[in-house]
Amino acid sequence: MKKIAILGSTGSIGTQTLEIIRSNREELEVVALAANSNVTLLEAQIREFQPQIAVMWSAEAAAQLRVRLADCKTRVLQGMDGLLEIAVMPQAQVLVTAVVGMIGIRPTIEAIKAGKDIALANKETLVCAGHIIMPLARERGVSILPVDSEHSAIFQALNGEPADRISKILLTASGGPFRGWKRERLASVQVEDALKHPNWAMGRKITVDSSTLVNKGLEVMEAKWLFGVDLSQIQVVIHPQSIIHSMVEYMDGAVIAQLGVPDMKLPIQYALFYPDRRKMENNRVDFYQLGSMTFEEPDLETFYGLKLAFQALEKGGSMPTVYNAANERAVALFLERRIGYLQIPELIQRSMEQHAVVEHPGVEEILAAEQGVYDYIKGLV
Ligand code: NDP
Ligand code: MG
Repeated sequence: MKKIAILGSTGSIGTQTLEIIRSNREELEVVALAANSNVTLLEAQIREFQPQIAVMWSAEAAAQLRVRLADCKTRVLQGMDGLLEIAVMPQAQVLVTAVVGMIGIRPTIEAIKAGKDIALANKETLVCAGHIIMPLARERGVSILPVDSEHSAIFQALNGEPADRISKILLTASGGPFRGWKRERLASVQVEDALKHPNWAMGRKITVDSSTLVNKGLEVMEAKWLFGVDLSQIQVVIHPQSIIHSMVEYMDGAVIAQLGVPDMKLPIQYALFYPDRRKMENNRVDFYQLGSMTFEEPDLETFYGLKLAFQALEKGGSMPTVYNAANERAVALFLERRIGYLQIPELIQRSMEQHAVVEHPGVEEILAAEQGVYDYIKGLV
C-alpha cells in the first residue's frame, strides 16, 4: 500500500488525484489532506478517505471543520504548522504538492528532508526554490515526480536517458484563448474571457497564466530545474491541439514525444505509480478524428510575459521569485477586477526592473523578495 498526503486536495489537481486513488483503493491510501478554506469539500473528502491528519490554512475554517468532524478520528490542524506537520509525518511516503503559489516551498523542502518522494504539481515552488530543492532531493535520494503535463511528457520521453544526450527540450503550449491576438485587442480582455481555456479545465490562477503565456514561462523554469538543462536548450512550441504534451530532441536528431488527450489524470497517475504504468479508461487519442496537428512560433512581442521569464531565468538568483510573485499578485488583482489584463505583464516587468538580484537566495531571502514585490505592487495599484 502506497501512503499519500495531498496539499491542496480540494483544487483541480487535488480532486483529480483523489479520483485516481478512488479507482486504486487496494494500492493507494490517503494519510493526510490539506486545503485553504473549502470546509464542505474537505469534510466530504475526510469522510470518504479517512486520513489521519487534515489541515485548513484558515483558522476560522479549521475551527468549523473540527466541529463538523466531532465524530471522526482525523486530527484537524491549521496554517503553516499544519502543512509542515503533514510534510514530515512518518506515515506518508509520497507528498502531492497541489497547492497554488509559493506557499508550497517550505512544506516541500521539509518533506524532502524527511525522505518523502514528491509528486509535484506546484510549479511555483521549483521556479523560486529549484536551486534549493533539486540538490536537496539528490542528497536525500528522493524523487521529484512531475505532475505538470508537459514535464510528465518530457520525463516519459527521457525514460532514463542521461542528460548529456539531450540536445533540446521542446515545450509545447496551446497558445491559450487569445492565440493570434495583438495587444490592442488584448486590452479589452475581461476575467470571463481569460478563464475560458480551449483545451484544459484547471484552477483559476493557472488558467489566467495560460492565457498570458506566463504559465509557459513558469514551465520553462520548472523544466530547467527538473531536467538540469540550460536555458538555451529549451524551446517553446505553440501546438493548439494539445495532443503532443512535449518532446525531447536528442543529440542524434531523434525527437521523442509523448501524446495523449488533454487529461491531467494521466500525468497524476503516472507520478503516483512510477515507474509502473496502470490502466486508464476513456482517454484514447482518435487520430482519424484529430486529422492534423499544427505548430507555430510563440508571439513574444504580444505575449511578452513569456519573454520576461527567459530574462528572469538569465538573471537568476531571486529574479525568478520576483517574476512569480509579481505574477501571482497581478493575477489576483486582475481576478478582483482591480487591474486590466495588460497590466499583468506590465507589473511583472516593472517589478523585475526595480529589483536588485540576490544570488543563491535561501528560503528567508526568497520570502523577503516575495514580500518586497507585494509591497512594491501595493504602492502602484
Ligand atoms: P486550484 O486553485 O484548483 O486549487 C488550489 C488548491 O490549493 C485548493 O485545494 C486550495 O484550497 C489549496 N490552497 C490554496 N492556498 C492554500 C493554503 N494557503 N494552504 C493550504 N491549501 C491551500 O489550483 P490547481 O489545482 O489548478 O493548481 C494547483 C497547482 O498545480 C498550481 O501550482 C498549478 O500551477 C499546478 N498545475 C495545475 C494544473 C491543472 O490542470 N489544474 C496543471 C499543471 C500544474 P481551497 O479549495 O480551500 O481554496
Ligand atoms: Mg502544464
